[in-house]
Amino acid sequence: MEIRLHNTLSGKKETFKPLQPGKVGMYHCGPTVYMYPHIGNFRAYVFADTLKRLFVELGFDVMQVINITDVGHLVSDSDDGEDKMEKSAKALHKSAQELANFYTSVFMDNLRELNVHTSGTIFPRATAHIPEQIKIIEELERKGYTYKTSDGIYFDTARFPDYGKLGNINIGGLREGERIGVNDEKRNLTDFALWKFSPTNEKREQEWPSPWGVGFPGWHIECSAMAMKYLGETFDIHTGGIDHIPVHHNNEIAQSECATNHQFVHIWMHNEFMSVDGKKMSKSLGNFYTMADFHAKHVNPLAYRYFLLNARYSTPMNFTWESLGAATNAYEKLVAHAQKLDEVEPEGHSGVESEVISAMADDLDTPGVIATLWNALKSDDVTDAQKKSILLLADRLLGLKLFAQKKIIIPEAVLILVEKRKLARAEKNYTESDRLRKEIETHGFTVKDNKEGQDIIQL
Ligand code: AMP
Ligand code: ZN
Repeated sequence: MEIRLHNTLSGKKETFKPLQPGKVGMYHCGPTVYMYPHIGNFRAYVFADTLKRLFVELGFDVMQVINITDVGHLVSDSDDGEDKMEKSAKALHKSAQELANFYTSVFMDNLRELNVHTSGTIFPRATAHIPEQIKIIEELERKGYTYKTSDGIYFDTARFPDYGKLGNINIGGLREGERIGVNDEKRNLTDFALWKFSPTNEKREQEWPSPWGVGFPGWHIECSAMAMKYLGETFDIHTGGIDHIPVHHNNEIAQSECATNHQFVHIWMHNEFMSVDGKKMSKSLGNFYTMADFHAKHVNPLAYRYFLLNARYSTPMNFTWESLGAATNAYEKLVAHAQKLDEVEPEGHSGVESEVISAMADDLDTPGVIATLWNALKSDDVTDAQKKSILLLADRLLGLKLFAQKKIIIPEAVLILVEKRKLARAEKNYTESDRLRKEIETHGFTVKDNKEGQDIIQL
């Protein structure tokens, strides 16, 4: 089966050729653990997990790395401003590592709720890989790619003619030594910090000795060091959100390729954003939701996963509760199909199954997989046994846990209360309908109003 993936490096869909037959190594830029991850961030990891599921289905041995950034990511995303970890730790009167442990465990719990495979994945922390980072900087220094300023050791991007090749970034104007006043000592605007010195007037909480003085690594070098440590100097696939193309990933390429003299990554893949009201969902804009919001609203995280997979990873998405509601209904219908077929012995349907796999192998066309699945489920030409086999395959690829959802038995008492509430609502007696909702909740269920009536949800 040919796998075609869109490579940001070439700007084209390419046939995937593994570096080692039957094996694939993938690195995914992980979270900066200074705050709760938002549901937009999980688009990046559900995408990574879906990619992994395709390879596993096709019999590949997958090596996957998702880093944990617990130092060096500065507020401005460039080389100035406070370290996000230190700033947040101070505000919360915690140590940076307490914060990192807490948000890393939230991140891991959230991944599991979204059925992202975590067991075989390596989650390295930046602070546990300082020597590896220093080693790369030393190599770059030996080769003459670095220079020193009053606040750190910088990479001279003018020395790497390919700088900006990922996504064809137009850096022409930036090379002229323009100054925007932020850091006058940079030779080129695109230059970036490899190592930053600790400030002389205050004590940083996380800092390390180095050949250049006490300080901490730049955010970009962390990813290069951890990726190369676990996947080798050249590996198959690197992913992240599209925001990482212009700076972070071009910097990773520059420092890695100059240090090793080899191509760093064969295929770069980038997921589009999840927006809210047309603006990127982001921690800095404050327009985000977390998995805790899903818990509060009794949203099944896997219905969100289904919502995500209804668009290809490379298509922009906009989040609304209404569209999530529609996806939840469809997800629940799929679960109902799975439950109906629970006892049925599966029997392969090679036609539909190869359509499903071909859609996945065509640059993760998950909406195509979902459409094929629905067509098969609705078709009279497909037997129940075949439907079961197709559902099992789609479920493995999409990771929706369709067969693992609990069979919910709604007690008679709840059904009677829901009927009464329907009448109260028809009479516009909202005080009574609210009272009834509360009474329903004492039975461990709740109701959500929709256009056709009420959905009954188990708490
Ligand atoms: P961060 O913790 O901000 O470094 O982000 C972690 C991952 O989530 C990165 O791959 C980002 O590119 C990605 N990301 C951040 N915001 C969004 C968003 N609104 N939609 C999709 N991916 C995002
Ligand atoms: Zn990264």
